[in-house]
Amino acid sequence: MSSVFVTGCAGFIGSHLCERLLEEGFDVIGIDNFDDYYDRRIKERNLINLLNKRNFKFIEADVRDSKTVENMLEKRSIVIHLAARPGVRASIKHPKLYFDVNVRGTMILAEKSVKKEVEQFIFASSSSVYGTSQLPFKESLPADKPLSPYASTKRCCEILLHSISNCYSLPVTCLRFFTVYGPRVRPDMAIYKFAQAIREQKDVILYDGGRLKRDYTYISDAVEGILKAMKRRFAYEVFNIGSGRPIEIRYLVKLLEENLGRKAKIRVRPKPKEDMPATHADLTKAKNLLGYSPRVFIEDGVRKFLEWFLKTQAELPEP
Ligand code: NAD
Repeated sequence: MSSVFVTGCAGFIGSHLCERLLEEGFDVIGIDNFDDYYDRRIKERNLINLLNKRNFKFIEADVRDSKTVENMLEKRSIVIHLAARPGVRASIKHPKLYFDVNVRGTMILAEKSVKKEVEQFIFASSSSVYGTSQLPFKESLPADKPLSPYASTKRCCEILLHSISNCYSLPVTCLRFFTVYGPRVRPDMAIYKFAQAIREQKDVILYDGGRLKRDYTYISDAVEGILKAMKRRFAYEVFNIGSGRPIEIRYLVKLLEENLGRKAKIRVRPKPKEDMPATHADLTKAKNLLGYSPRVFIEDGVRKFLEWFLKTQAELPEP
């Protein structure tokens, strides 16, 4: 069995993925630089279930450190590249940083992957590449008008990887994730911020009165999508990984209110221009070519998220 090299292993999706890969019997090498986008201690806690595992090796390093990447990347391994500067809104303040981490980081990793004859390169892309494309989003759409610097870095990476795959025969699969949520979700994500605000009776900011739509994907479905993608090799393909069941954000707030037993103090604001009005994954291609089929409904996912949220609130490090 090939070893798997996971970048961004201390993050939300990365830590869940590594746990699952170890359960499946893979040897995993994880790399993360504890980027300061959110508190390092949260990421260290994400690694707790991994660090004592025999088949897991952790390296604290930056994917832009090409020497370390070259030393740690094993020949003919599988690379799953999740490390990135995430967040649509924050990217507006630091576009150059986003391009450096996301695009240059991907370039360096791809170059080393070619050198090490990597069996497969799986890239974490994003539904944000679709901008205001026609719904539901199909992979065949041009996706040439992303709305934020973050979204454009993801689209740049997809295009860059296409040329690398073509010129150097690196098999590449790009997975466009749609708003992934669940235990250990990033603290900057709406579901986390809303839950915290409702619990502390602070304002919940709802853009456009909560009418924006998001295709919420539960973490176990997103991880399953990655596992399914690992089973198939393509010269280059792009897949949507979503739930295919978009909801209005105000429905998410309603679910949180019901489960927390408290009303939200809602403040309505206009939609920021970098935000997409709606996302909706067309899953036909992922179903047909990968056998991907999401299982978790939002009502169950929110309950599971809140179980974790309430348990960990008390243990969270002071800001
Ligand atoms: P996350 O921030 O929790 O995880 C990313 C990890 O990458 C972090 O632990 C961070 O420290 C690490 N990292 C950042 N820069 C690095 C660098 N230069 N070198 C090494 N490590 C670095 O984010 P996440 O939500 O788990 O997202 C994982 C990936 O999936 C990202 O590429 C993100 O853009 C993409 N994605 C996520 C979602 C979502 O809803 N969570 C949706 C679409 C795409």
